[in-house]
Amino acid sequence: TKNFAVLSSGGDAPGMNAAVRAVVLACEREGGQVIGYRYGYNGLLSQSCRNLNAKTVHNLIQQGGTVLHSGRCPEFKSEQSAKTAAANLNEKAIDCLIVIGGDGSFRGAAHLSKYWSGQVIGLPGTIDNDIPGTDATIGYYTAIETAVTSIDKVRDTADAFERLFLVEVMGRHAGFLALKAAIASASDYVILPELFESEDKSLNEIELQLHKHRKDVEHDSFIIVVAENVWPGGLDALSSSLAQRTGSEIRPVILGHVQRGGSPVSQDRILATKLGCEAVQAAYDGDNCIMIGEQKGELVRTPLSEVCDASKPLTASTVKTMKLLLNNRYA
Ligand code: ADP
Repeated sequence: TKNFAVLSSGGDAPGMNAAVRAVVLACEREGGQVIGYRYGYNGLLSQSCRNLNAKTVHNLIQQGGTVLHSGRCPEFKSEQSAKTAAANLNEKAIDCLIVIGGDGSFRGAAHLSKYWSGQVIGLPGTIDNDIPGTDATIGYYTAIETAVTSIDKVRDTADAFERLFLVEVMGRHAGFLALKAAIASASDYVILPELFESEDKSLNEIELQLHKHRKDVEHDSFIIVVAENVWPGGLDALSSSLAQRTGSEIRPVILGHVQRGGSPVSQDRILATKLGCEAVQAAYDGDNCIMIGEQKGELVRTPLSEVCDASKPLTASTVKTMKLLLNNRYA
């Protein structure tokens, strides 16, 4: 049997708890023990941890956030930190560390493995879905749901007042969340980092689209979903450019951190549970420095080195649908 440690690091995401639960239950099934480190790599450096078992993960699957807490830990990039972490893991007789987080956290895991002989396994946890090696990340589905529900509410007021709304959706430098949220909320236009060419091109398209929309729908409410970190100058700059061009009143809305919270939807719970169980299995198979993902319904193990620095393209079929019904509807 093996001893496991688990931690959640970087941006938190709904379903991280479901992953912790799965790791603990799968590990206990094999007769092993699990400890949980608090606040990401910070807990690993300060040896702040607690035992996890069936009792501590009872009633956990539906809870948002992460019971282990998350955290950034800039000093973890140093050689000394990795050596301290290795010594702490050895002191607790840990055979395998499971890291739930995004690409930064996986870089940390790969860094640690240079100084520690135990196994390191990553589980993709982020609402941004910007991790290669898996079709979806833990938390992504819940964040889509949250964004769509919020945009539905914006639509109600947009409709009542016939206004143009800009809704900023998270995603760091990826447009997955914005794209899905825009399609599911029947928004009228979406601005994505992967497809953005220039401010002028986008403004021209929006202007044309808005003009045709007014003619066809005979209604003035119009919703534009904007992925964060795309528009130069942010939502305010876009808002004033659009006001100038269209003469319409623009209402910018930033959804913000509500997108990280909430009880995970069933898709995230199921994904987290499958990946958590598979991580324990992979540890017993002797795998090291890998991430567990799911692609086309199959569980996949990808080397961390391939996950950290590669980029993940938007799904072509989703982009195709978007181009038909959103941005170029009148082209
Ligand atoms: P995410 O995992 O969501 O991408 P971050 O990019 O903030 O979040 O990374 C989370 C943590 O991972 C950092 O605070 C740091 O502790 C660790 N980390 C990130 N990059 C490295 C690196 N190159 N070397 C060591 N640790 C790293």
